[in-house]
Amino acid sequence: MKLLDGKWVSSLILEEITEEVTQLKNKFGKTPHLAAILVGNDGASETYVGSKMRNCEKVGMRSSLVRLESAISEKELLDAVEKLNQDENVDGFIVQLPLPKHISEANIIKAISPSKDVDGFHPDNIGKMVLNMPSFIPATPFGILQMIEKYRIETAGKHCVVVGRSHIVGLPMSILMARNAYPGNCTVTLTHSRTANLKEVCQSADILIVAMGKPDFITADMVKEGAVVIDVGTTRVPDSSKKSGYAIKGDVNFAEVSPKCAYISPVPGGVGLMTVTSLIMNTLLAAKNSIG
Ligand code: NAP
Repeated sequence: MKLLDGKWVSSLILEEITEEVTQLKNKFGKTPHLAAILVGNDGASETYVGSKMRNCEKVGMRSSLVRLESAISEKELLDAVEKLNQDENVDGFIVQLPLPKHISEANIIKAISPSKDVDGFHPDNIGKMVLNMPSFIPATPFGILQMIEKYRIETAGKHCVVVGRSHIVGLPMSILMARNAYPGNCTVTLTHSRTANLKEVCQSADILIVAMGKPDFITADMVKEGAVVIDVGTTRVPDSSKKSGYAIKGDVNFAEVSPKCAYISPVPGGVGLMTVTSLIMNTLLAAKNSIG
């Protein structure tokens, strides 16, 4: 069994990005700039945004954070989005999800300029991704592709099972793994809570990608010997042995599944780090696009 080490892959990619950022600065006087809008003060969202900002600075990019109260109206948030759309100094930006219940996430995502949508959630970017056209690929699936590529895992002709059909992970992941590209060229099965025979479907997976938010759901009897297992799940569970009072748990029962796998990504230390790195890659792409 080999670990898919998100720390190792992301450090390789961040090094490459640092070099490119230096070149952009030297050749064009351009410093890529990522902005983030954070609504409210949810603990997990604060952590994710903080990590995105820190990583930007690590590679020499600019980052800025727009903080808004959770009671803000949808109209006020749309105005904040429009301001960043118009700001020539901002190459790309994200609106950290989830948003308060009274705001439609779909309306906010639609309002982001597709050329600055570095999360890759805008319908234009999703459509281009489906058609295999250049676009911003959603950060988590993009990170998983990078991981597969850096470990040179064979994908052509394999059966890839994706568990979970969210617009930000499962659905785009299934499309990307079916593309005529590397990584890709898989036969893909996309599963969800209405899938009748999930255990049997998972057992037939050469590559199993799980994004459910159900800690330890995938057990050893659901996994084929020699499979590649990628665990996207990140659920906070109470843990009094930790200073924070919680631990992060994946969707795969690592202890029992890992001995059967050719490769497996751990939680934490796997996909989460790749998500941040991919966002930085998309920001670099946005900056390059802006100077043609
Ligand atoms: P989500 O919107 O929370 O949806 C969960 C998906 O799992 C749904 O499609 C649901 O099916 C499916 N599901 C739930 N119970 C199931 C069951 N018993 N059998 C089969 N499918 C089931 O998904 P998400 O936003 O992608 O998040 C999933 C997990 O990934 C969460 O833990 C989240 O924190 C984590 N995540 C991690 C990263 C990272 O960077 N590591 C990034 C994003 C998300 P239905 O559609 O039928 O309801």
